[in-house]
Amino acid sequence: MVLLWRKCARLLEKSSTWLSKGRPLFHCDRHFSSTDSLERGDNYYDIVISGGGMVGFAVACALGQSNRLSDRKILLLEGAPKKDWQLPEEFGNRVCALNRNTQNLFMKLGVWDTITNLRAQPIRRMQVWEACSEAMICFEENPEEGCLAHIVENDVILEALRSKIPDRVQVEYSSKVEGYSLPKSIDGLVEIHLEGGDSVTTELLVGADGVKSLVRQAMGTQYLSWDYDQMGIVATLQLSEATENFVAWQRFLATGPVALLPLSHDRSSLVWSTTKEKAKSLLRLSEEDFTDALNRALWDESASDPVVQKIHERWMTLVNTVAPGQGSDYRQLPPGISGIVSNSRGAFPLGLGHAVHYVNPRVLLIGDAAHRVHPLAGQGVNLGFGDVSCLLKTLENAVLIGSDIGSERELFRYESHCQKHNVATMASIDGLYRLYSTTALPIVLARSLGLSTVNVIPFVKNFFMRHAEG
Ligand SMILES: Cc1cc2nc3c(=O)[nH]c(=O)nc-3n(C[C@H](O)[C@H](O)[C@H](O)COP(=O)(O)OP(=O)(O)OC[C@H]3O[C@@H](n4cnc5c(N)ncnc54)[C@H](O)[C@@H]3O)c2cc1C
Repeated sequence: MVLLWRKCARLLEKSSTWLSKGRPLFHCDRHFSSTDSLERGDNYYDIVISGGGMVGFAVACALGQSNRLSDRKILLLEGAPKKDWQLPEEFGNRVCALNRNTQNLFMKLGVWDTITNLRAQPIRRMQVWEACSEAMICFEENPEEGCLAHIVENDVILEALRSKIPDRVQVEYSSKVEGYSLPKSIDGLVEIHLEGGDSVTTELLVGADGVKSLVRQAMGTQYLSWDYDQMGIVATLQLSEATENFVAWQRFLATGPVALLPLSHDRSSLVWSTTKEKAKSLLRLSEEDFTDALNRALWDESASDPVVQKIHERWMTLVNTVAPGQGSDYRQLPPGISGIVSNSRGAFPLGLGHAVHYVNPRVLLIGDAAHRVHPLAGQGVNLGFGDVSCLLKTLENAVLIGSDIGSERELFRYESHCQKHNVATMASIDGLYRLYSTTALPIVLARSLGLSTVNVIPFVKNFFMRHAEG
Protein backbone atom coordinates (compact mmCIF):
# COMPACT_ATOMS: atom_id res chain seq x y z
CA MET A 1 0.00 0.00 0.00
CA VAL A 2 2.78 2.41 1.02
CA LEU A 3 4.67 1.56 -2.16
CA LEU A 4 1.59 2.21 -4.25
CA TRP A 5 0.99 5.55 -2.52
CA ARG A 6 4.61 6.66 -3.05
CA LYS A 7 4.44 5.69 -6.72
CA CYS A 8 1.28 7.80 -7.11
CA ALA A 9 2.97 10.71 -5.34
CA ARG A 10 5.90 10.58 -7.76
CA LEU A 11 3.59 10.42 -10.75
CA LEU A 12 1.78 13.48 -9.42
CA GLU A 13 5.08 15.30 -8.92
CA LYS A 14 6.10 14.51 -12.48
CA SER A 15 2.79 15.57 -13.95
CA SER A 16 2.80 18.85 -11.99
CA THR A 17 6.23 19.56 -13.44
CA TRP A 18 4.91 18.84 -16.88
CA LEU A 19 1.91 21.10 -16.36
CA SER A 20 3.98 23.91 -14.89
CA LYS A 21 6.40 23.81 -17.79
CA GLY A 22 3.57 23.59 -20.31
CA ARG A 23 5.42 21.06 -22.48
CA PRO A 24 5.50 17.30 -22.69
CA LEU A 25 7.93 15.52 -20.42
CA PHE A 26 10.53 13.91 -22.61
CA HIS A 27 13.18 11.68 -21.28
CA CYS A 28 14.47 8.33 -22.30
CA ASP A 29 16.86 7.56 -19.44
CA ARG A 30 16.28 4.56 -17.31
CA HIS A 31 14.83 5.97 -14.13
CA PHE A 32 15.17 4.72 -10.56
CA SER A 33 12.91 6.15 -7.92
CA SER A 34 12.78 5.92 -4.15
CA THR A 35 10.37 3.02 -4.48
CA ASP A 36 13.16 1.15 -6.23
CA SER A 37 15.40 1.82 -3.27
CA LEU A 38 12.84 0.31 -0.92
CA GLU A 39 12.67 -2.73 -3.15
CA ARG A 40 16.43 -3.02 -3.53
CA GLY A 41 17.07 -3.78 0.11
CA ASP A 42 19.30 -2.57 2.92
CA ASN A 43 22.51 -2.32 0.94
CA TYR A 44 21.05 -0.10 -1.75
CA TYR A 45 21.24 3.70 -1.58
CA ASP A 46 20.03 6.23 -4.13
CA ILE A 47 23.13 8.38 -3.51
CA VAL A 48 26.42 7.42 -1.85
CA ILE A 49 29.00 10.09 -1.00
CA SER A 50 32.46 8.65 -0.64
CA GLY A 51 34.66 10.81 1.62
CA GLY A 52 33.62 12.85 4.62
CA GLY A 53 35.94 15.85 4.39
CA MET A 54 34.56 19.39 4.27
CA VAL A 55 33.23 18.92 0.74
CA GLY A 56 31.72 15.46 1.36
CA PHE A 57 29.87 16.74 4.42
CA ALA A 58 28.70 19.83 2.52
CA VAL A 59 27.26 17.56 -0.22
CA ALA A 60 25.53 15.39 2.40
CA CYS A 61 24.08 18.47 4.04
CA ALA A 62 22.91 20.08 0.78
CA LEU A 63 21.36 16.93 -0.74
CA GLY A 64 19.96 15.80 2.62
CA GLN A 65 18.18 19.12 3.15
CA SER A 66 16.77 19.33 -0.38
CA ASN A 67 12.98 18.92 -0.50
CA ARG A 68 13.19 17.70 -4.05
CA LEU A 69 15.51 14.87 -3.02
CA SER A 70 13.67 14.14 0.20
CA ASP A 71 12.65 10.64 -0.89
CA ARG A 72 16.22 9.58 -1.70
CA LYS A 73 18.20 7.27 0.52
CA ILE A 74 21.62 8.88 1.08
CA LEU A 75 24.77 7.41 2.61
CA LEU A 76 28.07 9.13 3.49
CA LEU A 77 31.13 6.91 3.90
CA GLU A 78 34.18 8.24 5.73
CA GLY A 79 37.31 6.15 6.18
CA ALA A 80 38.50 7.85 9.38
CA PRO A 81 36.94 7.08 12.78
CA LYS A 82 34.43 9.46 14.35
CA LYS A 83 35.98 12.03 16.69
CA ASP A 84 34.09 13.69 19.49
CA TRP A 85 34.82 17.34 19.02
CA GLN A 86 34.44 20.37 21.22
CA LEU A 87 35.71 23.84 20.42
CA PRO A 88 39.25 23.90 21.83
CA GLU A 89 40.55 27.03 23.53
CA GLU A 90 43.48 27.28 21.13
CA PHE A 91 42.99 27.68 17.37
CA GLY A 92 43.66 24.72 15.08
CA ASN A 93 46.48 25.10 12.54
CA ARG A 94 44.30 24.22 9.50
CA VAL A 95 42.11 27.10 8.41
CA CYS A 96 40.37 28.29 5.25
CA ALA A 97 39.45 31.71 3.92
CA LEU A 98 35.77 31.28 3.03
CA ASN A 99 34.55 33.60 0.26
CA ARG A 100 31.14 35.18 -0.11
CA ASN A 101 29.73 32.47 -2.35
CA THR A 102 30.59 29.85 0.25
CA GLN A 103 29.01 32.04 2.91
CA ASN A 104 25.81 32.24 0.83
CA LEU A 105 25.71 28.45 0.43
CA PHE A 106 26.26 27.99 4.16
CA MET A 107 23.52 30.50 4.97
CA LYS A 108 21.14 28.54 2.77
CA LEU A 109 22.08 25.32 4.61
CA GLY A 110 21.72 26.97 8.04
CA VAL A 111 25.41 26.32 8.69
CA TRP A 112 26.68 29.90 8.72
CA ASP A 113 25.23 30.89 12.11
CA THR A 114 26.73 27.78 13.68
CA ILE A 115 30.12 28.74 12.26
CA THR A 116 30.00 32.31 13.50
CA ASN A 117 28.72 31.16 16.91
CA LEU A 118 31.72 28.84 17.15
CA ARG A 119 34.58 30.95 15.74
CA ALA A 120 35.20 32.95 12.55
CA GLN A 121 37.24 36.07 11.90
CA PRO A 122 36.20 38.52 9.19
CA ILE A 123 38.78 39.90 6.75
CA ARG A 124 38.14 43.57 6.14
CA ARG A 125 41.33 44.33 4.25
CA MET A 126 43.82 42.31 2.26
CA GLN A 127 47.32 43.53 1.46
CA VAL A 128 49.55 41.75 -1.03
CA TRP A 129 53.08 42.90 -1.71
CA GLU A 130 56.37 41.46 -2.82
CA ALA A 131 60.00 41.22 -1.77
CA CYS A 132 61.62 42.47 -5.00
CA SER A 133 59.93 45.89 -5.18
CA GLU A 134 57.60 48.36 -3.49
CA ALA A 135 54.64 47.17 -5.58
CA MET A 136 51.51 46.23 -3.67
CA ILE A 137 47.79 45.78 -4.04
CA CYS A 138 45.15 46.04 -1.39
CA PHE A 139 41.48 45.19 -1.26
CA GLU A 140 39.08 46.81 1.20
CA GLU A 141 35.67 45.58 2.26
CA ASN A 142 32.74 47.33 0.67
CA PRO A 143 30.38 48.50 3.46
CA GLU A 144 27.36 47.50 1.35
CA GLU A 145 28.59 43.99 0.63
CA GLY A 146 30.30 43.18 3.92
CA CYS A 147 33.73 41.78 4.59
CA LEU A 148 36.01 40.24 1.96
CA ALA A 149 36.08 36.75 3.45
CA HIS A 150 36.14 34.91 6.78
CA ILE A 151 38.93 32.83 8.25
CA VAL A 152 37.48 29.67 9.75
CA GLU A 153 39.22 26.60 11.16
CA ASN A 154 38.64 23.45 9.11
CA ASP A 155 37.38 21.62 12.21
CA VAL A 156 34.81 24.35 12.84
CA ILE A 157 33.52 24.06 9.24
CA LEU A 158 33.27 20.28 9.56
CA GLU A 159 31.46 20.44 12.90
CA ALA A 160 28.98 23.04 11.66
CA LEU A 161 28.20 20.95 8.56
CA ARG A 162 27.85 17.76 10.59
CA SER A 163 25.41 19.43 12.95
CA LYS A 164 23.07 20.33 10.08
CA ILE A 165 22.91 16.96 8.36
CA PRO A 166 19.34 15.68 8.57
CA ASP A 167 18.77 12.31 10.26
CA ARG A 168 17.69 10.72 7.01
CA VAL A 169 21.29 10.89 5.74
CA GLN A 170 23.18 7.90 7.08
CA VAL A 171 26.78 8.74 8.03
CA GLU A 172 29.21 5.84 8.50
CA TYR A 173 32.67 6.49 9.95
CA SER A 174 35.55 3.98 9.89
CA SER A 175 34.17 2.85 6.53
CA LYS A 176 37.07 2.84 4.15
CA VAL A 177 36.29 1.98 0.56
CA GLU A 178 38.61 -0.57 -1.00
CA GLY A 179 37.30 -0.44 -4.55
CA TYR A 180 34.47 0.46 -6.90
CA SER A 181 32.81 -1.44 -9.74
CA LEU A 182 31.46 1.23 -12.07
CA PRO A 183 28.87 0.56 -14.77
CA LYS A 184 29.79 1.21 -18.40
CA SER A 185 26.38 2.68 -19.07
CA ILE A 186 23.30 4.02 -17.33
CA ASP A 187 21.80 0.50 -17.33
CA GLY A 188 24.02 -0.68 -14.50
CA LEU A 189 24.54 0.40 -10.89
CA VAL A 190 27.67 1.29 -8.91
CA GLU A 191 29.00 -1.28 -6.47
CA ILE A 192 31.13 -0.04 -3.59
CA HIS A 193 33.41 -2.53 -1.84
CA LEU A 194 34.29 -1.68 1.74
CA GLU A 195 37.28 -2.82 3.74
CA GLY A 196 36.11 -5.81 5.75
CA GLY A 197 34.09 -7.33 2.88
CA ASP A 198 30.78 -5.44 2.96
CA SER A 199 29.47 -3.80 -0.17
CA VAL A 200 26.75 -1.32 -1.09
CA THR A 201 25.04 -0.51 -4.36
CA THR A 202 23.98 2.91 -5.59
CA GLU A 203 22.37 4.79 -8.41
CA LEU A 204 24.77 7.74 -7.97
CA LEU A 205 28.27 7.79 -6.49
CA VAL A 206 29.70 11.15 -5.44
CA GLY A 207 33.51 10.97 -5.19
CA ALA A 208 34.50 13.45 -2.46
CA ASP A 209 37.53 11.45 -1.42
CA GLY A 210 40.21 14.11 -1.81
CA VAL A 211 43.38 14.57 -3.85
CA LYS A 212 44.26 10.87 -4.06
CA SER A 213 40.68 9.95 -5.00
CA LEU A 214 40.07 6.24 -5.49
CA VAL A 215 36.82 7.11 -7.27
CA ARG A 216 38.81 9.11 -9.84
CA GLN A 217 41.16 6.17 -10.35
CA ALA A 218 38.23 3.79 -10.82
CA MET A 219 36.73 6.16 -13.41
CA GLY A 220 40.02 6.04 -15.30
CA THR A 221 39.64 9.68 -16.25
CA GLN A 222 42.72 11.57 -17.39
CA TYR A 223 44.20 13.63 -14.55
CA LEU A 224 46.47 16.56 -15.40
CA SER A 225 48.76 17.24 -12.48
CA TRP A 226 52.09 18.60 -11.45
CA ASP A 227 53.98 19.09 -8.25
CA TYR A 228 55.10 22.61 -7.31
CA ASP A 229 58.12 21.21 -5.48
CA GLN A 230 56.85 23.28 -2.55
CA MET A 231 55.47 22.59 0.90
CA GLY A 232 52.88 24.72 2.64
CA ILE A 233 53.95 25.22 6.25
CA VAL A 234 51.07 26.03 8.57
CA ALA A 235 51.17 27.21 12.19
CA THR A 236 49.21 29.28 14.68
CA LEU A 237 50.99 32.55 15.43
CA GLN A 238 51.13 34.69 18.52
CA LEU A 239 51.15 38.42 17.62
CA SER A 240 53.54 40.79 19.44
CA GLU A 241 50.71 43.20 20.21
CA ALA A 242 46.97 42.71 20.46
CA THR A 243 45.26 44.55 17.57
CA GLU A 244 41.87 44.53 15.85
CA ASN A 245 43.44 42.05 13.42
CA PHE A 246 41.07 42.16 10.46
CA VAL A 247 43.79 42.24 7.78
CA ALA A 248 45.04 39.30 5.70
CA TRP A 249 48.65 39.72 4.58
CA GLN A 250 50.52 38.00 1.80
CA ARG A 251 54.08 38.68 0.71
CA PHE A 252 55.51 37.02 -2.39
CA LEU A 253 59.10 35.86 -1.91
CA ALA A 254 61.13 34.22 -4.68
CA THR A 255 60.74 30.90 -2.82
CA GLY A 256 56.94 31.26 -2.52
CA PRO A 257 54.30 33.36 -0.76
CA VAL A 258 53.99 33.78 2.98
CA ALA A 259 50.52 34.62 4.30
CA LEU A 260 49.16 35.70 7.68
CA LEU A 261 45.44 35.18 8.15
CA PRO A 262 43.69 36.85 11.09
CA LEU A 263 42.14 34.63 13.77
CA SER A 264 41.63 36.90 16.78
CA HIS A 265 43.08 40.04 18.39
CA ASP A 266 46.34 38.21 19.21
CA ARG A 267 46.41 35.18 16.91
CA SER A 268 46.94 34.71 13.19
CA SER A 269 47.29 31.64 11.06
CA LEU A 270 50.36 31.08 8.91
CA VAL A 271 50.45 29.56 5.43
CA TRP A 272 54.06 29.74 4.25
CA SER A 273 54.66 28.13 0.86
CA THR A 274 58.30 27.47 0.21
CA THR A 275 60.66 25.06 -1.51
CA LYS A 276 60.73 21.54 -0.07
CA GLU A 277 64.36 21.99 0.91
CA LYS A 278 63.73 25.26 2.75
CA ALA A 279 60.60 23.83 4.37
CA LYS A 280 62.61 20.95 5.80
CA SER A 281 65.17 23.30 7.30
CA LEU A 282 62.43 25.62 8.66
CA LEU A 283 60.68 22.69 10.32
CA ARG A 284 63.94 21.63 11.97
CA LEU A 285 64.40 25.07 13.62
CA SER A 286 63.41 25.66 17.22
CA GLU A 287 60.13 27.56 17.60
CA GLU A 288 62.07 30.73 18.54
CA ASP A 289 64.34 30.52 15.49
CA PHE A 290 61.35 29.72 13.27
CA THR A 291 59.64 32.89 14.55
CA ASP A 292 62.77 34.93 13.70
CA ALA A 293 62.89 33.41 10.22
CA LEU A 294 59.22 34.27 9.71
CA ASN A 295 59.69 37.89 10.81
CA ARG A 296 62.62 38.16 8.40
CA ALA A 297 60.49 36.74 5.58
CA LEU A 298 57.91 39.47 6.24
CA TRP A 299 60.27 42.40 6.76
CA ASP A 300 63.58 41.72 4.98
CA GLU A 301 64.24 44.25 2.16
CA SER A 302 67.49 42.73 0.84
CA ALA A 303 65.81 41.19 -2.25
CA SER A 304 64.55 44.61 -3.36
CA ASP A 305 66.01 45.64 -6.73
CA PRO A 306 67.13 49.33 -6.89
CA VAL A 307 66.50 49.60 -10.68
CA VAL A 308 62.95 48.25 -10.32
CA GLN A 309 62.40 50.52 -7.32
CA LYS A 310 63.38 53.62 -9.25
CA ILE A 311 61.30 52.84 -12.34
CA HIS A 312 58.35 51.84 -10.14
CA GLU A 313 58.57 55.12 -8.22
CA ARG A 314 58.51 57.16 -11.46
CA TRP A 315 55.67 55.07 -12.87
CA MET A 316 53.57 55.68 -9.78
CA THR A 317 54.26 59.43 -9.96
CA LEU A 318 53.02 59.35 -13.56
CA VAL A 319 49.94 57.29 -12.65
CA ASN A 320 49.10 59.66 -9.82
CA THR A 321 49.41 62.61 -12.21
CA VAL A 322 47.14 61.02 -14.81
CA ALA A 323 44.62 59.69 -12.28
CA PRO A 324 45.06 61.76 -9.13
CA GLY A 325 43.60 60.34 -5.96
CA GLN A 326 43.24 56.85 -7.41
CA GLY A 327 46.47 55.62 -5.90
CA SER A 328 45.57 56.59 -2.39
CA ASP A 329 45.48 53.03 -1.03
CA TYR A 330 47.81 53.26 1.90
CA ARG A 331 50.46 50.72 2.78
CA GLN A 332 50.17 49.17 6.23
CA LEU A 333 52.91 47.38 8.07
CA PRO A 334 52.30 43.72 8.91
CA PRO A 335 52.07 42.75 12.57
CA GLY A 336 55.15 41.54 14.44
CA ILE A 337 55.12 37.87 15.39
CA SER A 338 56.28 37.11 18.93
CA GLY A 339 56.04 33.31 18.75
CA ILE A 340 54.19 30.29 17.49
CA VAL A 341 51.72 28.24 19.47
CA SER A 342 53.61 25.22 20.72
CA ASN A 343 53.59 22.21 18.33
CA SER A 344 51.28 23.96 15.88
CA ARG A 345 53.62 23.63 12.89
CA GLY A 346 52.62 21.28 10.07
CA ALA A 347 53.53 20.95 6.40
CA PHE A 348 51.67 19.81 3.27
CA PRO A 349 52.95 19.11 -0.26
CA LEU A 350 51.56 21.51 -2.85
CA GLY A 351 50.54 20.73 -6.40
CA LEU A 352 48.00 21.32 -9.12
CA GLY A 353 45.65 18.64 -10.42
CA HIS A 354 42.56 18.57 -12.60
CA ALA A 355 40.40 15.68 -13.78
CA VAL A 356 39.63 16.10 -17.47
CA HIS A 357 36.19 14.58 -16.80
CA TYR A 358 34.25 15.02 -13.57
CA VAL A 359 31.51 12.56 -14.57
CA ASN A 360 30.86 9.08 -15.97
CA PRO A 361 27.54 7.22 -15.94
CA ARG A 362 26.34 7.16 -12.31
CA VAL A 363 29.49 8.71 -10.86
CA LEU A 364 30.92 12.18 -10.38
CA LEU A 365 33.89 13.86 -8.75
CA ILE A 366 33.72 16.83 -6.44
CA GLY A 367 36.13 19.01 -4.42
CA ASP A 368 39.80 18.07 -4.28
CA ALA A 369 39.00 14.73 -5.96
CA ALA A 370 38.31 16.76 -9.12
CA HIS A 371 40.72 19.69 -8.72
CA ARG A 372 43.60 20.78 -6.57
CA VAL A 373 45.17 24.25 -6.47
CA HIS A 374 48.03 26.09 -4.79
CA PRO A 375 46.78 27.72 -1.55
CA LEU A 376 48.17 31.17 -2.49
CA ALA A 377 44.69 32.47 -3.38
CA GLY A 378 42.81 30.59 -0.63
CA GLN A 379 40.43 29.10 -3.22
CA GLY A 380 40.78 25.29 -2.90
CA VAL A 381 37.80 24.39 -0.78
CA ASN A 382 35.79 27.35 -2.06
CA LEU A 383 35.92 25.75 -5.50
CA GLY A 384 34.70 22.53 -3.86
CA PHE A 385 31.79 24.31 -2.19
CA GLY A 386 31.01 25.93 -5.57
CA ASP A 387 30.78 22.39 -7.00
CA VAL A 388 28.33 21.50 -4.20
CA SER A 389 25.98 24.38 -5.12
CA CYS A 390 26.14 23.37 -8.76
CA LEU A 391 25.55 19.67 -8.03
CA LEU A 392 22.52 20.50 -5.88
CA LYS A 393 21.00 22.54 -8.74
CA THR A 394 21.78 19.82 -11.28
CA LEU A 395 20.22 16.99 -9.27
CA GLU A 396 17.18 19.03 -8.26
CA ASN A 397 16.65 19.92 -11.90
CA ALA A 398 17.00 16.26 -12.93
CA VAL A 399 14.31 15.28 -10.42
CA LEU A 400 12.10 18.15 -11.54
CA ILE A 401 12.11 16.99 -15.14
CA GLY A 402 11.71 13.36 -14.09
CA SER A 403 15.14 12.34 -15.28
CA ASP A 404 17.55 9.80 -13.83
CA ILE A 405 19.96 11.54 -11.42
CA GLY A 406 22.79 9.27 -12.54
CA SER A 407 22.44 9.88 -16.25
CA GLU A 408 25.46 11.33 -18.00
CA ARG A 409 23.25 13.79 -19.82
CA GLU A 410 22.26 15.40 -16.50
CA LEU A 411 25.71 15.08 -14.94
CA PHE A 412 27.36 16.76 -17.94
CA ARG A 413 25.52 19.94 -16.96
CA TYR A 414 27.29 19.77 -13.60
CA GLU A 415 30.66 19.10 -15.27
CA SER A 416 30.48 21.84 -17.86
CA HIS A 417 29.21 24.48 -15.44
CA CYS A 418 31.83 23.71 -12.76
CA GLN A 419 34.72 23.31 -15.17
CA LYS A 420 34.11 26.71 -16.73
CA HIS A 421 34.72 28.41 -13.40
CA ASN A 422 37.26 25.98 -11.95
CA VAL A 423 39.60 25.89 -14.95
CA ALA A 424 39.69 29.69 -15.21
CA THR A 425 40.44 30.01 -11.50
CA MET A 426 43.10 27.30 -11.60
CA ALA A 427 44.81 28.92 -14.58
CA SER A 428 44.89 32.31 -12.82
CA ILE A 429 46.32 30.81 -9.64
CA ASP A 430 48.97 28.85 -11.51
CA GLY A 431 49.81 31.95 -13.56
CA LEU A 432 50.25 34.03 -10.39
CA TYR A 433 52.44 31.32 -8.89
CA ARG A 434 54.70 31.35 -11.97
CA LEU A 435 54.74 35.13 -12.26
CA TYR A 436 56.05 35.46 -8.72
CA SER A 437 58.46 32.53 -8.82
CA THR A 438 61.06 34.41 -10.81
CA THR A 439 63.57 37.14 -9.98
CA ALA A 440 64.36 37.91 -13.67
CA LEU A 441 64.52 41.70 -13.84
CA PRO A 442 62.16 42.35 -16.80
CA ILE A 443 59.48 40.14 -15.26
CA VAL A 444 59.89 41.67 -11.81
CA LEU A 445 59.55 45.08 -13.41
CA ALA A 446 56.51 44.15 -15.50
CA ARG A 447 54.66 42.50 -12.60
CA SER A 448 55.49 45.38 -10.23
CA LEU A 449 54.16 48.02 -12.61
CA GLY A 450 51.19 45.80 -13.44
CA LEU A 451 50.27 45.15 -9.82
CA SER A 452 50.52 48.79 -8.77
CA THR A 453 48.54 49.87 -11.82
CA VAL A 454 45.75 47.35 -11.13
CA ASN A 455 45.73 48.66 -7.58
CA VAL A 456 44.71 52.12 -8.76
CA ILE A 457 42.12 51.07 -11.36
CA PRO A 458 39.02 50.24 -9.31
CA PHE A 459 37.09 48.36 -12.00
CA VAL A 460 40.01 46.03 -12.80
CA LYS A 461 40.54 45.41 -9.10
CA ASN A 462 36.83 44.70 -8.65
CA PHE A 463 36.96 42.27 -11.56
CA PHE A 464 39.61 40.23 -9.73
CA MET A 465 37.63 40.37 -6.50
CA ARG A 466 34.45 39.20 -8.20
CA HIS A 467 36.21 36.23 -9.75
CA ALA A 468 37.70 35.23 -6.38
CA GLU A 469 34.18 35.22 -4.92
CA GLY A 470 33.15 32.60 -7.44
C1 LIG B 1 48.33 24.56 3.41
C2 LIG B 1 46.96 24.62 2.82
C3 LIG B 1 46.16 25.75 3.01
C4 LIG B 1 44.89 25.84 2.43
N1 LIG B 1 44.14 26.98 2.60
C5 LIG B 1 42.94 27.09 1.98
C6 LIG B 1 42.14 28.30 2.08
O1 LIG B 1 42.51 29.27 2.72
N2 LIG B 1 40.95 28.34 1.42
C7 LIG B 1 40.50 27.29 0.68
O2 LIG B 1 39.42 27.39 0.07
N3 LIG B 1 41.20 26.13 0.59
C8 LIG B 1 42.41 26.01 1.21
N4 LIG B 1 43.13 24.85 1.10
C9 LIG B 1 42.56 23.73 0.34
C10 LIG B 1 41.61 22.90 1.19
O3 LIG B 1 42.22 22.49 2.39
C11 LIG B 1 41.14 21.69 0.38
O4 LIG B 1 40.63 22.15 -0.84
C12 LIG B 1 40.05 20.90 1.13
O5 LIG B 1 40.54 20.36 2.32
C13 LIG B 1 39.52 19.77 0.25
O6 LIG B 1 38.43 19.16 0.88
P1 LIG B 1 37.80 17.80 0.34
O7 LIG B 1 36.68 17.48 1.26
O8 LIG B 1 37.56 17.88 -1.11
O9 LIG B 1 38.98 16.73 0.48
P2 LIG B 1 39.66 16.17 1.80
O10 LIG B 1 39.73 17.20 2.86
O11 LIG B 1 40.95 15.56 1.37
O12 LIG B 1 38.66 15.04 2.30
C14 LIG B 1 38.61 13.76 1.71
C15 LIG B 1 37.98 12.81 2.72
O13 LIG B 1 37.79 11.55 2.07
C16 LIG B 1 38.16 10.51 2.96
N5 LIG B 1 38.58 9.37 2.15
C17 LIG B 1 39.62 9.31 1.27
N6 LIG B 1 39.70 8.10 0.71
C18 LIG B 1 38.68 7.36 1.24
C19 LIG B 1 38.24 6.03 1.05
N7 LIG B 1 38.86 5.20 0.20
N8 LIG B 1 37.16 5.61 1.75
C20 LIG B 1 36.50 6.43 2.60
N9 LIG B 1 36.89 7.71 2.82
C21 LIG B 1 37.95 8.17 2.15
C22 LIG B 1 39.30 11.10 3.78
O14 LIG B 1 39.44 10.43 5.03
C23 LIG B 1 38.87 12.55 3.94
O15 LIG B 1 38.11 12.75 5.10
C24 LIG B 1 44.40 24.75 1.67
C25 LIG B 1 45.19 23.60 1.49
C26 LIG B 1 46.46 23.54 2.05
C27 LIG B 1 47.29 22.30 1.84
